[in-house]
Amino acid sequence: MLVTSKKLFEIALANNFAIPATNFVDQNTLRAYIAVAEKRQFPLIISFAQAHHEVMCIEEAALLGKFYAERAKVPIVLHLDHGQDIDFVKRAVDLGFSSVMIDASQDTLEDNIAKTKEIVNYARPKGVVVEAEIGHVGSGDNYENLEQSESMLTTVEDAKEFYKRTLVDSLAISIGTAHGNYIGTPKINFERLHEISKVVPAPLVLHGGSSSGDDNLRRCALSNIVKINIFTDLMNAAVKDLKANEQNYFDIQEKLRTGIEGCLDHYYSVFNTQKVLIPN
Ligand SMILES: [Zn+2]
Repeated sequence: MLVTSKKLFEIALANNFAIPATNFVDQNTLRAYIAVAEKRQFPLIISFAQAHHEVMCIEEAALLGKFYAERAKVPIVLHLDHGQDIDFVKRAVDLGFSSVMIDASQDTLEDNIAKTKEIVNYARPKGVVVEAEIGHVGSGDNYENLEQSESMLTTVEDAKEFYKRTLVDSLAISIGTAHGNYIGTPKINFERLHEISKVVPAPLVLHGGSSSGDDNLRRCALSNIVKINIFTDLMNAAVKDLKANEQNYFDIQEKLRTGIEGCLDHYYSVFNTQKVLIPN
């Protein structure tokens, strides 16, 4: 069933769990994700990232996402991940995404607030929820070389100000994770997470979950983070058992799905995800 994350996040927050947000890039990824969600009877957020629009256009993503979400026997959120420009995000709202992210985290605080407000004003009357990012979750490739890391930790003051002025539905904060592969395990600033969660009433979400360490992620799920994005680990798991001489197209697709399914199944356990009744 296609739902927004509104009720799911309330339930997750009250019951100390997080819901995985997994990026889909084709039908095969969607099939694998939904299969695990149905097997575990857990909710899931299927995300399409604007960065993947060259792999799949947003119209195709909306059509496929809605198809698989509506057929699913568990609550599924169809989410736009890292919407970079206003028009693209509005198009996602018009095409039936139930949740959108406007990512203006690299802009000034004022510009980030202005863009987020514009999207909130556009999406909310249509029943679509909005995620924004404050601080910046950068790329993990240079993790050990801190000087080159582009991540910027979210400050408590900015998060408070940002929420007060945007009233956004959920907020992505930067507390030590990064996108992509890491060299080593990151240090998560749990103190900062705690401080932010005390002053921001909106549900908090975490990007760059892949390879951030199971203990770290579990602690986040138990500490007010309601959504954790996972992508790189799923893609790595997909190809892990592929053999160089694999020849049959269908066998390859199935192997990719099996790898993905094992990884998502694992993260459901790590995130303490629980079964919820389908909200109306
Ligand atoms: Zn992200």
